[in-house]
Amino acid sequence: MERNYPLHLLSTWRIGGPAETVYWPESVEDLSNVWMRAQEAEIPVRLIGRGSNVLFPDEGLPGITLVTTSLRGIEWGDYTVRVEAGYTLARLAQEVGERGWSGLEFARGIPGSIGGAIMMNAGAHGYDMASCVLSVSTLWADGTIKKLERDEFEFDYRFCSLRSHAWILETQLIFRPGEREQILRSMKENLTKRTANQPLEEPNAGSVFRNPPGDSAGRLIEAAGWKGKSIGGAKVSEKHANFIVNTAQAKSADVLALIESIKLDVQLKYGITLQTEVESILTGNRGVTKKEE
Ligand SMILES: Cc1cc2nc3c(=O)[nH]c(=O)nc-3n(C[C@H](O)[C@H](O)[C@H](O)COP(=O)(O)OP(=O)(O)OC[C@H]3O[C@@H](n4cnc5c(N)ncnc54)[C@H](O)[C@@H]3O)c2cc1C
Repeated sequence: MERNYPLHLLSTWRIGGPAETVYWPESVEDLSNVWMRAQEAEIPVRLIGRGSNVLFPDEGLPGITLVTTSLRGIEWGDYTVRVEAGYTLARLAQEVGERGWSGLEFARGIPGSIGGAIMMNAGAHGYDMASCVLSVSTLWADGTIKKLERDEFEFDYRFCSLRSHAWILETQLIFRPGEREQILRSMKENLTKRTANQPLEEPNAGSVFRNPPGDSAGRLIEAAGWKGKSIGGAKVSEKHANFIVNTAQAKSADVLALIESIKLDVQLKYGITLQTEVESILTGNRGVTKKEE
């Protein structure tokens, strides 16, 4: 447990003030115990994975920030794997590919945790997590731990119906037989494309906006003239207009101001309302806020 911990160390954007308390649960039981105790004491709690899709506030966060990265249990089956929420998605993709199993080729360059990837329904190249999830084990607001089969919740583009209702503790994923060399080659090609097209050398949080139906947020932002523009230390990447990079100790407020300016401008010029993909983590309980209906 750490007190007064700099949140910028927990975010790939490298932005955020101090967190009152940060805790890395060592097991699923540990995590649910902390949740229950915090509930009783009315302490605000939120949970993150690898912080690759979050914007933390400059003023920091009260209460407890839980980080899943120590939940890394894994158990291999026959074209299946049972894996805890904090396991790294990119690492799992590589390990699945090494076995000659197909299904996670798209995920090799996505820097989140398994839990975060399911909650965001992370995807690329036309594929996403929805295609390989068999079941999830979840923690609900009243402390119930419940295994849900794939047909008991929904996925959509960068959406999972469990978001804001439950936390993912672990999941079972399923893959297809494939050709090992071809899978590894395809992952390598995907990584090469990312290095060419994304500003990986500067702190960022991936795509900031969701693609509107039939269009690309990057194309609209570039067409509106935002590529390379900055507010404070936050800048629209020269390499990819849907990435905002932290060039010089950017503040959360700089990123939010840039997001709002882009949204307004794209709305005025093209009549399209961009929606953010990145999660803005403010204060209070996040992740398990409502009981199951
Ligand atoms: C360079 C770069 C490239 C990227 N490329 C892609 C891409 O191609 N496709 C794509 O989809 N995304 C991409 N992303 C975004 C990001 O990696 C994914 O959204 C990822 O799945 C987020 O996982 P995380 O563990 O980092 O989640 P975090 O950022 O830690 O959290 C994101 C949200 O998920 C919630 N959450 C996290 N873990 C859990 C859990 N166990 N249970 C419940 N809720 C949870 C958090 O509360 C938060 O609301 C990219 C990011 C970067 C920096």
